[in-house]
Amino acid sequence: MQRPVTTLRLSPQIKVKVLNAGFQTLDDVMQVSALELSREAGLSQEEALEVLQVARKEGGADGGGAGDGASLTALDLLQKEEALTRIVTFSSRLDAALGGGLPVGKITEICGVPGMGKTQLCLQLAVDVQVPPCFGGLGGQVVFIDTEGSFVVQRAVDLATAAVRHCTLLAEEAEQRDAAAAFTVETILSNIFMVRCHDYVELLAEIYLLPDFLSSHPKVRLVVIDSVAFPFRQHFDELRAQRTRLLNGLAQQLISMATKHDVAVVLSNQMTTRLQGGQSQLVPALGESWGHAPTLRLLLRWAGSQRQATIFKSPDCEEATVNYQITTDGFRDDDRSEQPPSKRPRTLAGQSAAC
Ligand code: ATP
Ligand code: MG
Repeated sequence: MQRPVTTLRLSPQIKVKVLNAGFQTLDDVMQVSALELSREAGLSQEEALEVLQVARKEGGADGGGAGDGASLTALDLLQKEEALTRIVTFSSRLDAALGGGLPVGKITEICGVPGMGKTQLCLQLAVDVQVPPCFGGLGGQVVFIDTEGSFVVQRAVDLATAAVRHCTLLAEEAEQRDAAAAFTVETILSNIFMVRCHDYVELLAEIYLLPDFLSSHPKVRLVVIDSVAFPFRQHFDELRAQRTRLLNGLAQQLISMATKHDVAVVLSNQMTTRLQGGQSQLVPALGESWGHAPTLRLLLRWAGSQRQATIFKSPDCEEATVNYQITTDGFRDDDRSEQPPSKRPRTLAGQSAAC
């Protein structure tokens, strides 16, 4: 992209700063993060983000969405839905309620108060997406964006160890035995691409750059952001409108990325209190307009001393609630007060995964 920076739809003041810092073409601008651009060109972080956004849009890296959609028929859509792949959660009850697991190509949000297990479920999915296809998995890779510093590698090792053990136990045919032998803790950890974002600027910059990474890593089938709320709950006390604008842009990017690169996007979100009719209610953070971004919303909550997961927004699943627990091995069904699950084929989608 040799297009000069001067031709971008930016204010003259911003253009001068960008040019003075030595950025001549779109190519030059697209090689740096928003943070670097802001430092090098003396721009505010918001201005640097705007430059990257305009450069990406006008450079055509993310264009064409409307054109793609316009050529789809309802039959195409039906076939796409039928071919939808899913990531098992290792909770057979939750998978059943979700129609087989979390959908690839869509955005799922996991909400809940601290300690409910949002990070645990994100980690579980990062392992599960790698389960070999002969066990009902996708054999994929994952990009894990950690905004809270809560990714604990030893916990990933625990979950990976349990998944490997489970597949080894399930292996019956030669293909499954070969796949189980290649499915090791080391390969699982090496297929998790970690990104640590310290603030919303780094997060937004990462999301702008991610499509290029996904193009060169087609095995990535899952992008996790744990959490999306944390970076946006600081610094915005008096800038609600700006936050909404940035979140709307982020939502568009994520939807486009999930569809074009056929990845599941899983976000964790915190809860906040809202006053309604004189009563305070716990609701997912980031406001009502953000609520339109995810296709599917899962609420993790306590019912007494029981952990429960409720699907509370989905275009194709009924609202459903299942019991779950967090064990040493990870996110699992909690059958202590329920009937045992019905017998299913020997794949992970049909197993309670209680190793
Ligand atoms: P936050 O909003 O603070 O990020 P969260 O919803 O992400 O919270 P997690 O960190 O996913 O919460 O879950 C923490 C809970 O997971 C702990 O309270 C504990 O009950 C459970 N947990 C974590 N590690 C283990 C383990 N090794 N064995 C059993 N349970 C565990
Ligand atoms: Mg967490």
